[in-house]
Amino acid sequence: MKFKVSLKNLNSLTVGNSSRIAHVDIGFNDMGIPGSAIKGAMRTAISWAIGNGLLQGFTSCGQVNPEKIIDAHKNGACDVCKLYGYPNHEGVLRVSSIKVDDVKVLTRVSIKDETNTSKEGALFKQEVIPPEREFTFEVELFSDDCRMIELTLFSLYFLRFWRLGRGGMIDLKVDEMKADEMKKCPSLEVKKYLGDWLWQ
Ligand SMILES: [Zn+2]
Repeated sequence: MKFKVSLKNLNSLTVGNSSRIAHVDIGFNDMGIPGSAIKGAMRTAISWAIGNGLLQGFTSCGQVNPEKIIDAHKNGACDVCKLYGYPNHEGVLRVSSIKVDDVKVLTRVSIKDETNTSKEGALFKQEVIPPEREFTFEVELFSDDCRMIELTLFSLYFLRFWRLGRGGMIDLKVDEMKADEMKKCPSLEVKKYLGDWLWQ
């Protein structure tokens, strides 16, 4: 099944390599926001939620190290890894990339880390996506398992309280879900919270 998700950035997002700046909202590339970055943020958000007891009924091994994942999966893969994949297992979720063509170029001043004062002559250009822009991306699930659909929706739900990149606050809503697909999964309570923006 496939569905569309709208994403709105609440603060400005920086584009390109901005390693010279102390506070980078998100470092994504010139092509926009890669699907892998969104997927990674969804995984981090849901692992955090399960690890902190905010979501019952799902398991997360919470590991990133391949050896530790294998160890944690001795009695079967955890739900988060089933959805997102783990070493030698692809997972059942795909997230499309976001194309960004609305960037502003700002001239900024480098700051000396030690003194917090501006460095002389250290102006540089930075590409920024202004706040409150809306984008869409597509989520595709290669599974009819209601639990996997539910875990995907919960990932989007908790990503709204998490962040994209470093400090990039975003809002999300699910645009369209086919009614017949939903009917097969009556337990999808969470979808009613995803129909509209959270932060407005
Ligand atoms: Zn796992």
